[in-house]
Order: sequence, then structure tokens, then C-alpha cells
Amino acid sequence: MKIKNIFEKKEVVFSLEVFPPRSDVPIENIYQTLEELKDINPDYISITYGAGGGVRKNRTCKLSSIIKEKYDVEALAHLTCINSNQKSINKILTRLEEKNIKNILALRGDKPVAGEVIGEYNYAYELVDHIKKNNDFGVAAACYPEGHLETESIDQDLEYLKQKVDSGVDYLISQMFFDNSLFYKFRRKAQKKGIDVPIEAGIMPVINKKQVARIIELSDAYFPAKFKKILNKYEDNPEALRDAGIAYAVEQIVDLISSDVDGIHLYTMNNPYVARRIKEAVGSLINHINGQEIQKVV
Ligand code: FAD
Repeated sequence: MKIKNIFEKKEVVFSLEVFPPRSDVPIENIYQTLEELKDINPDYISITYGAGGGVRKNRTCKLSSIIKEKYDVEALAHLTCINSNQKSINKILTRLEEKNIKNILALRGDKPVAGEVIGEYNYAYELVDHIKKNNDFGVAAACYPEGHLETESIDQDLEYLKQKVDSGVDYLISQMFFDNSLFYKFRRKAQKKGIDVPIEAGIMPVINKKQVARIIELSDAYFPAKFKKILNKYEDNPEALRDAGIAYAVEQIVDLISSDVDGIHLYTMNNPYVARRIKEAVGSLINHINGQEIQKVV
């Protein structure tokens, strides 16, 4: 099923992100995690491509297929185009088609810290364009409520986002953020620019100190004072930090749902315990909004 159809049916979509295990460990290592993630009933699961190192790239297609076939959950395969040419992209697209994958998150990927970019694609909109002209996938793309790290201004970023959406994007997934007001401001500006596809809010429950440095490196997200207070207060108490991080994410999600967000995309970091705690807290609210019978989370 194309994920855009899920957005058409539901007021609030709830999705999860996982990353494949490294290629030097058995893929079955992630099965227990998937078992537990399936139990919390996501609308779909997305699978990263190359994030955290190239050794995971060739697993995205396989894991997407496993999620779909073995766990019966719709899959969104991430795909980056930086340093790629049309031939290599076509090869991956054919493989995804053969595995019956229907949805792709079309990304540019990060520029290498050292070395030049030598591929045939400079930006994600070129990958979106290529897929739409040659294949029949549902296509999602990334957006950045606080602006992309390379961008000069949010307005400029939005101009490029409009170009990307107009190339054939069904819906957007946002970078993580910790201050909902920044997301609302971005959403208003996007609407003004004529960007009218659904925007899923990316939520990252921060449950340990190590994550904070990584978030700054990846997104340079703004940390509100109340968030910093949690980090400072519980930095030496891992369980308290985990619980406060989960509570903070839940508070963000409830506020987003109450402000008519199109969907919540949870960066699970392959941690089913955290995902389950969050779904337990917001699952019945989501079901209520979607007019579904409330399901017991197991
Ligand atoms: P683009 O949309 O191409 O934007 C990149 C930059 O170029 C922006 O600053 C934009 O303003 C600018 N730009 C766009 N179009 C133009 C134009 N025509 N002219 C000039 N400038 C332009 N990375 C991975 O490696 N693997 C993953 O699995 C992965 N998953 C992600 C999932 C989500 C939800 C998000 C938000 C990010 C993910 N990333 C992943 C990170 C992503 O690859 C990086 O943020 C990357 O730097 C930008 O990718 P993009 O697709 O947003 O690029």
C-alpha cells in the first residue's frame, strides 16, 4: 500500500524509524526488536539507509522486505542519492520493486566531511524527479523545522522544499525538534508557500546523555530551558533521565496531536521499550482521534 493512502484515511498517522543491523552481524539480531515494535501497532516502519555508516546500506532493502513480509507492517525504505549515479540508483530501485516495496523516503544524504561529491545528483528533488519519471513508488521526503544545517535561511530552505514537493512528494517527515513552537511556525510558513502535503513530526525521545551530542551534530536542534533542566538534573541518574526523556516526548506528542499534526514519526533508535512506553501513553488518544476502537497495547 502507498503510505499516502494511510494519510488519506487517518487524522493522525503513527510511524516508527529503525536502522538495520551492521552487515557483519546476523540480520536476525533485529527480529526481537521488530516483534516488539509490531506489537505497538505502527502504521508503518521506516528503515534508514547508510545513516551511522555505509556498512548498513545494503541491508535497507532486505530489512524493508522482512518488515513487510514477515511482520506484515508497511515499510518505507530510505534512499540517499549523494555520490550515486543513475545506474546505481536504478539498480536499487529495481531491487526494491522486486521485493514489493511500495514506498521510498528520497534523500540527498549528508555531504562527506572530507572529499568531493562526485555523483550525478546534487539534491533530493532530483532523486524524487527520477523516481517519479521512471517508477511507481510512493515518495516521502525530509524537511527541517529549524532549517537544514547548510541553509542560509529558513525562507530559502522553504523555497527549495517547495521545489522538492512539486517534484512529486506525497508527504514530509520532519527532522527532530524539541520545541513545538518552532514546528508550528515552520508549518505555517510552509502552508503560505503552498506546500500542502501532510507533514509528520519527527520525535526523538532523549533517554541518555550520549544522544545529546549526536543530536547537536546531526541537527543543531534548539533545546528549550525546560529540556536542558532535565538533562542537567538527571545527567548522573540514567533511569531518571530515561523516564524524564520519555515524559518529555509524550508531552510534545500530546501537544502536537492537539494542534492537528498529520502524523508522529518516532525515532526509536531500535529501542522497543521506549517506543512501547510512548505508545502506551498516547496510543488511545491517537485511536480516539482516528475514531478507532481502543486497542490494548501489549
Ligand atoms: P535536500 O532536500 O537536497 O536539501 C539539502 C540542502 O540543499 C538543504 O540545505 C536545502 O535547502 C538545499 N537545497 C535543496 N535544493 C536546492 C537547490 N535546488 N539549490 C540549492 N540548494 C538546495 N541520511 C542518511 O544518510 N540516511 C538516512 O536514512 C537518513 N534518513 C533521514 C530521515 C529524516 C526524516 C531526515 C529529516 C533526515 C534523514 N537523513 C538521512 C539525513 C539527510 O540525508 C541529511 O539531512 C542531508 O544533509 C539532507 O538531505 P535532504 O534529502 O533533506 O536534502
